[in-house]
Amino acid sequence: MGNNGRMAAAPNRVDVAIVGAGFAGMYMLHRARSAGFSTHVFERGSGVGGTWYWNRYPGARCDVPSLEYSYQFSEELQQEWEWSEKYATQPEILRYAEHVADRFDLRRDISFETTVQSLNWQNNAWRVSTTSGATLARFVVLATGCLSAANVPRFPDDDLYKGNTYHTGNWPHEGVDFTGKRVAVIGTGSSGIQSIPVIAEQAEYLTVLQRTPAYSVPARNQTLSPDYVASVKANYGEFRRKNSLTRAALGGDTPTGPQGACEVSDQERHNALEVRWQKGGLLFLGAFNDALTNPTSNRLIADFVREKIRTTVCDPETARKLMPDAVIGCKRLCVDTDYYETFNRHNVSLIDLREQPIQRFTESGIVFTRPDTDGVGEPQTIEYEFDAVVFATGFDAMTGAINKIDIQGRDGQLLTDVWSEGPVNYLGLSVHGFPNLFMITGPGSPSVLTNMIVSIQHHVDWITECIAQLGDSAKTTIEADSEAQREWVEHVNTVAGMTLYTSCSSWYLGTNVYGKPRVFMPLPGFPAYAQRCAEIARDDYRGFVTR
Ligand SMILES: Cc1cc2nc3c(=O)[nH]c(=O)nc-3n(C[C@H](O)[C@H](O)[C@H](O)COP(=O)(O)OP(=O)(O)OC[C@H]3O[C@@H](n4cnc5c(N)ncnc54)[C@H](O)[C@@H]3O)c2cc1C
Repeated sequence: MGNNGRMAAAPNRVDVAIVGAGFAGMYMLHRARSAGFSTHVFERGSGVGGTWYWNRYPGARCDVPSLEYSYQFSEELQQEWEWSEKYATQPEILRYAEHVADRFDLRRDISFETTVQSLNWQNNAWRVSTTSGATLARFVVLATGCLSAANVPRFPDDDLYKGNTYHTGNWPHEGVDFTGKRVAVIGTGSSGIQSIPVIAEQAEYLTVLQRTPAYSVPARNQTLSPDYVASVKANYGEFRRKNSLTRAALGGDTPTGPQGACEVSDQERHNALEVRWQKGGLLFLGAFNDALTNPTSNRLIADFVREKIRTTVCDPETARKLMPDAVIGCKRLCVDTDYYETFNRHNVSLIDLREQPIQRFTESGIVFTRPDTDGVGEPQTIEYEFDAVVFATGFDAMTGAINKIDIQGRDGQLLTDVWSEGPVNYLGLSVHGFPNLFMITGPGSPSVLTNMIVSIQHHVDWITECIAQLGDSAKTTIEADSEAQREWVEHVNTVAGMTLYTSCSSWYLGTNVYGKPRVFMPLPGFPAYAQRCAEIARDDYRGFVTR
């Protein structure tokens, strides 16, 4: 039963069934229960915390400041919990999730080690079939997580490899000791960038396999000063309110600069970027107001980061390989502690897979294809031996965990069929043909472009209010109207099309997963979205059909 001790048996029938016990499922349980609904949660893992239960890799931490990356629904909770660092580590965030579960007595309504396999809409209820039985539910809420379905790419002969392999998103609970080991890390997105400096300190030798270089800004992590914490806690409500008014629902104390990057002199631009670089964190991109809309501004900001890489990494060839040439911010910006500095260590080297691709695995390592040095002869192969390979290859984002469940809606239609060309939906909350089924931070909502806990709370509050109001009317079902859904998909595409987000391959677009439809999934801009959701609710759930 893992770290949570108790395991609740699932009832035969509930008002609300929730899939997942991360921050979304936990708060949904609390809210639905408080609103008087009988509620039950099914969770694949043996404990609460979701992302922070699974991602136990070395160096894992949040990159939204802890004082923001936390629940705001309970003043007592936010006053009593003490974060120790600007960016909390995975163990600390997991302790927080466990504290919340205890404080609000959540575990009595959670079945751990229970995977939801299918959902079938029949006779105005959902039949929730799990690895340990079935439950009928009036409503189902998918709190399955945007980054919870690990993406493990296959390589020729990878089954021959006899060393240890790990995925950062499914890390052994007992930890891994890399002392004296030759380690390969595949992938240089957020998880790779967090884990590489820490693994390098322990391993005998670390080889980093990079397909696409990422932009990373320093975290400047630090112990939180009691005075700063006290000042935030003295006015936590206002702190939260200011954050929720920003596009990404974070960093209200450091507003986006009022000008475009091209509207200032070279020196002013450099100074503004240097101030944000020294401050550290994701708000680096907010130095100017057009970073993700004006290609020229974006290039100037990217040039600044490339120059930082050039002056940090001693070996010019390694620095060249580490310099991204894509639009900055188009893939999720990474936040690091000593990432680029790590390539100055004597026990670390970088392989650029675009120049030297993986050919196949062997029993003891990986064979790479290397172009002939003068570029005219036959390509050569070279084998590296590794004791362990770490896959920091990310997730089948936003739709991966949902599509793993066999979801059959009205008239027997399968969600995977409805989503075959992309995850159509209304507000990122509901899909036409799937009554009384809600997603938390689903595709079509701001979700992964924001401080996720703000988006999670917003969705949970909205869903709770919606099903409570439905209960007050004589109606029993609610689902997205097909025309409203079509317009919403168009709206999301239009908003995304006004930005530079769609200009490179990324997990936002699904291009990291073979065969996944290329559709930009999240909606940029939290405040406008939240306002729209509120208006729709006030307008008697415009765009939804109730029966
Ligand atoms: C390494 C990492 C760092 C991150 N850092 C940040 C950050 O700094 N700031 C930020 O805003 N966001 C961050 N995120 C995003 C993070 O996922 C969210 O902030 C948040 O934790 C999501 O909570 P959730 O409850 O929606 O999903 P999750 O935490 O992913 O929980 C979903 C749960 O659903 C369960 N589940 C899924 N399918 C099933 C099924 N069929 N049956 C039963 N159970 C199922 C899973 O086991 C999982 O426990 C990070 C993500 C990762 C991976």
